[in-house]
Amino acid sequence: MHCYGDDLDRGAYSYLLGLYLGDGHILLPNEYRRTQSLQITCDDHWPGITDSVENAMRLVFPRNKPCRVRRTGCHDVKLYSNHLTCHFPQHGPGKKHERTIALEPWQQEIVDAHPWEFLRGLIHSDGCRITNWTTRMVGGVKKRYEYPRYFFTNTSTDIIGLFTATLDAVGVQWKAAARPTGATNISVARKDSVALMDAHIGPKY
Ligand SMILES: [Zn+2]
Repeated sequence: MHCYGDDLDRGAYSYLLGLYLGDGHILLPNEYRRTQSLQITCDDHWPGITDSVENAMRLVFPRNKPCRVRRTGCHDVKLYSNHLTCHFPQHGPGKKHERTIALEPWQQEIVDAHPWEFLRGLIHSDGCRITNWTTRMVGGVKKRYEYPRYFFTNTSTDIIGLFTATLDAVGVQWKAAARPTGATNISVARKDSVALMDAHIGPKY
């Protein structure tokens, strides 16, 4: 079990877990640093998401202060704490897609209770909402139709499996497609499913 016990903000944790699995890195102490750190890279196009990442870190680790490190076109939101690997036991050597990523029972329980927060974290890190459009002639008049879709791309089949199992749990329909890069792309395009995603996640901001 994690070490903050009942104090853990479970909704914020579920979101941060999605962010971590999507695009987070934990660094362990070495000869130069004494403390573990969690780093989530946020694109400067979406300042609202950077704020929301930082806020989730504050809620999950109320004893530690996140900070931002500016890089070209993005910021790393960083948090130092020696309780990172107990909160995110998925940490391990090598890349996430080269090892098994499975949730601990206590994590699965939190995701089951807060599935939308988990999905939002995954979409905010490795996903997006895109609007495609087309025109069609209706009664001699050219009309524009928009098709919003959600996409999530990841190279780890385990993380794809966690994402799609959670979509199933909330009743969102999805399709998978293999990318030439070896990644899997999940798309949500059905109107009712997109509406459900919009009600809980929405476009990046
Ligand atoms: Zn701990």
